[in-house]
Amino acid sequence: MDQYVVIGDPIAHSRSPGMQNAAFAFYGIAAHYQKRHVLRGEIAPFLEEARKTLAGFNLTVPHKGAVIPHLDEITPEAAAAGSVNTVTVRNGKLLGDSTDGYGLEHALLENFNTPVAGKNILFLGCGGAARATAFHLAQRGAGSIRIANRTLGKACQLAEELQKYAPGIVTEAAGNDDDETLRRWLEESDFLIQATSLGLKTGDAPPMNLKLLSPELKHLHVFDTIYHETPLLHCAAACGIPAADGMAMLIGQGAKSFEIWTGRPAPLDAMRQGFLKGE
Ligand code: NDP
Repeated sequence: MDQYVVIGDPIAHSRSPGMQNAAFAFYGIAAHYQKRHVLRGEIAPFLEEARKTLAGFNLTVPHKGAVIPHLDEITPEAAAAGSVNTVTVRNGKLLGDSTDGYGLEHALLENFNTPVAGKNILFLGCGGAARATAFHLAQRGAGSIRIANRTLGKACQLAEELQKYAPGIVTEAAGNDDDETLRRWLEESDFLIQATSLGLKTGDAPPMNLKLLSPELKHLHVFDTIYHETPLLHCAAACGIPAADGMAMLIGQGAKSFEIWTGRPAPLDAMRQGFLKGE
């Protein structure tokens, strides 16, 4: 039986096993997927073991960047983003890919029925999730990617890297408290992607000044990568702005991992049911 795992620290909250095992069961594939707690310092021994015993694995915080020097191959998009969440083990070799961006694109299509090509996209945050997804959206033909972040230097750096990766794209950076710039960007944006960790915990500060959202923002769609209702989503809905949480992104990135590993179309309904069971 082929063995798969997801590794991270923490990992107890992960719903990937429920999702992937439902997909294997759907096709009757003899495979099993589990979660494994792996600390930052344990990545090298884990990878040596993985080469011999696993068919593939997913990675979450804090391993998505740390795994890269150990890989035998990596896709250009994952290399540019500096983020790998899916590894296939083939003949003892480790092949790295990133499916977070595909997951986001899938979620935007599923929730808003709107493709990203030519669209103006505003990211809040520029950590691992924003990086992995922004390179994918750039590669898929986004018209502009603007980044607002607490640490302005990091947003400027990502904007510069995206510009080099996809020279046709417009990229800009600002602080997340620069209300004047954010007001203008919101008026021009098709998607606002919330990719900070703010909203994970009750009582977190909002990731931007929520008063900037208004019913006049006719073209805007708000997507929060967090998969429960955050104050940002609540505020967007109150303004009549279409808004969605991160669940479809999580299912989308898992679906793409499954397709990479098995070569079969992901059974999305079965995976969604597996995810909701929360195993
Ligand atoms: P990182 O730790 O890499 O990045 C965190 C981001 O949040 C940075 O931009 C950071 O800003 C910002 N931030 C953190 N604290 C504050 C604060 N107090 N005030 C302002 N900004 C702050 O995290 P990830 O990129 O891995 O994850 C980000 C979010 O994406 C999480 O909420 C996670 O749940 C979600 N996610 C969802 C997925 C899905 O499939 N739905 C998949 C992966 C992630 P700074 O640069 O200034 O530190």
